[in-house]
Amino acid sequence: MQHQRLSVSSSSAVNITSDIVTNKSMEEFSDSDEPPSSSTETSEFFSPPVLPSFILKDKLPSRNSLSSPKTTIFRKSHYPDISREQWNDWRWQLQNRIRKTDELSLIIRLSENEKEALEHSNGMLPLSITPYYASLIDRDDASHPLRRCVIPVSTELIRTEGESDDPLHEEGDSPVPGLVHRYPDRVLFLATDFCSTYCRYCTRSRMVGRSCSNIMSTKRWEMALGYIESHTEVRDVLISGGDPLTLSDESLEWLLSSLRSIQHVEIVRIGTKVPVVLPQRITSNLVNMLKKYHPLWMNIHFTHPDEITPETENALNKLANAGIPLGSQTVLLKGINDNLDTMKKLYHKLLMARVRPYYLYQCDPISGSSHFRTPVEKGLEIIKGLRGHTTGFAVPNYVIDAPGGGGKIPLQPGYYQGHNGTSVILKNYEDKLFTYPDTCPAE
Ligand code: SF4
Repeated sequence: MQHQRLSVSSSSAVNITSDIVTNKSMEEFSDSDEPPSSSTETSEFFSPPVLPSFILKDKLPSRNSLSSPKTTIFRKSHYPDISREQWNDWRWQLQNRIRKTDELSLIIRLSENEKEALEHSNGMLPLSITPYYASLIDRDDASHPLRRCVIPVSTELIRTEGESDDPLHEEGDSPVPGLVHRYPDRVLFLATDFCSTYCRYCTRSRMVGRSCSNIMSTKRWEMALGYIESHTEVRDVLISGGDPLTLSDESLEWLLSSLRSIQHVEIVRIGTKVPVVLPQRITSNLVNMLKKYHPLWMNIHFTHPDEITPETENALNKLANAGIPLGSQTVLLKGINDNLDTMKKLYHKLLMARVRPYYLYQCDPISGSSHFRTPVEKGLEIIKGLRGHTTGFAVPNYVIDAPGGGGKIPLQPGYYQGHNGTSVILKNYEDKLFTYPDTCPAE
């Protein structure tokens, strides 16, 4: 493999920094280049937010000029001393993530349920929200969709039947730590356990914001790259986490160039929520770096049409202009997006932003997720309400990621009704029956 060796510190944390790409001297490395370890995440649950020092490796802040009126009012009201330039600096957003109950209670009126979750969870329910995303949350309405996505309630502490910390059995399908090899020709590379904003229904909540994984270590990245190099059947690598776009440009470029140096890796994909919760991160420097590594695809985690703001549209525009095909993935969530109007609005907005709706996920049965999960019938109903009624591009694949590691299984409302002799009986989007002559001889 052609990629350069990672520099190994005395600790297990990684020093994957610009030094690797720009050939800086080794003296410039230090333990301070470490990403936020999960133990830090947990112990600082009620401590002042700390800027992950590896982020400081990036150069200039973004200068996005577009801002939604709601966000501007919020900034002026809650951060009166912060300039627009600071606000639009993604590192400032990360440094000032809202992680404590008292910080949160300054900007929203917490419900009793939310207070109980925050005050009595003993750090079991880590909290992190960027100030930008907080600006989109309703101050008074605890049922507000975006608010429910990021602020815990006490139901999260209740584990119901069938729930698990790792329902998709990712740990069991990991030949080396931080790499999941479930499907024949592709792997999932968990590059970091860090996210700027924690989603309450996160499938990887067992590791995101917690103290058990430390997946971003020199050794682990090298082991994962070594595994990919030695498995020539792997032609597709999905970089996820945590959120890989919270890595510095230099760390991400090192990883991308390392993957690109493996001949049998045909495509690389990035899974991220950053354009939604931290759109300031999509800087010109970042996209100029990313576009060097085509074919590069990106799947972005959207939940609700209210997430598509001028800031996010600006970020998506930059990514699309860099030639990165954009897709979306959305988790179906009770009381948040489980109705046709909301989904249609989301998908139409995404198409206008050049994002192709790709997956609609049935919510995974992670521990404490019962208040988020809908009946499967609800997902089928939404797909039925979209297919034929709007642009085909606006209809995602509705899937259940099978518990136990069975992979994604697509679900469709009953268009195929069976055979009648040599005819296939089909039902169209208006519930009218049609037949297709299935008369070609079997080979
Ligand atoms: S962005 Fe993804 S990995 Fe991060 S907390 Fe949300 S669902 Fe989990």
